This record gives sequence, structure tokens and C-alpha cells, in this order.
Amino acid sequence: MGKKTRMTSQRLKILEYLKSVKTHPTAEVVYRHVKKDLPAITLATVYRNLNLLAEQGEILKLEINGEFHFDADICCHQHCVCKKCGKIMDMFNKDISNYIKNKLKTRGFYPDCVNVMLKGLCKKCKGGDKNG
Ligand SMILES: [Zn+2]
Ligand SMILES: [Zn+2]
Repeated sequence: MGKKTRMTSQRLKILEYLKSVKTHPTAEVVYRHVKKDLPAITLATVYRNLNLLAEQGEILKLEINGEFHFDADICCHQHCVCKKCGKIMDMFNKDISNYIKNKLKTRGFYPDCVNVMLKGLCKKCKGGDKNG
């Protein structure tokens, strides 16, 4: 069982970092972290590797408010994005995925993955209101 794609150590490091966080970082944030271990790495290299990993389906690339965020968790899940602080939270709700899958099935389409993005306010931002 040989691996088809050869991972460079840089790409491995990027993937490793991404898998260690749940914050859905941008390329700049990934760059700042991997640079600690790989001082020679450039932002362009990080971008290239992130795009490659996304193309290969190893990670998710999400466009949120005109910025690209990356997620190493590629199983079906939903994202809740706070309009106020920009926080991105994972939500694993099988009911939402199954509902959409079943609805589409009756329309002749068979999705295997449902990525939904929900926009609103996080607990902290909502709680910021005196009345909240
Ligand atoms: Zn918030
Ligand atoms: Zn996620």
C-alpha cells in the first residue's frame, strides 16, 4: 500500500498544524505558526500548499467574508460564523445533513457531503447586549 501523493515536509507540517486547531485559520495565521518550525518557509509556499491540499480533498477551503479559511476536518459538518467577531464554530448536526440529503434525493441528486454555513451571532457577542 504505497501512498500516491508524496507529501513534502512543509506540506506535512502545514497539515499537522491545521489538524491541531479548530479555529479555521487563514493562510497568514498558518504561515505565522509553521514559520516557527520552518523558518525558511514563505507565505507563497503556505498558500500554494494549502490550495493543493484543498484540491486533493485533504482539507476544506471556506470563503468567509471575502477571506479564505482552512479546515482539516473534512467530514460533513456545518459552520456557524459570527457576524460580529468573525468567529467560526463547527457544528456537527447529522439531522441537517440527512434532511438536505433526503430532500435532494427526491429531486434526483445524491450529495455525499453537505457543507452548510450559518451566519449569526455567537454566544459572547449576543450576551454583550445588556438585555441579552
Ligand atoms: Zn461573536
Ligand atoms: Zn469546520
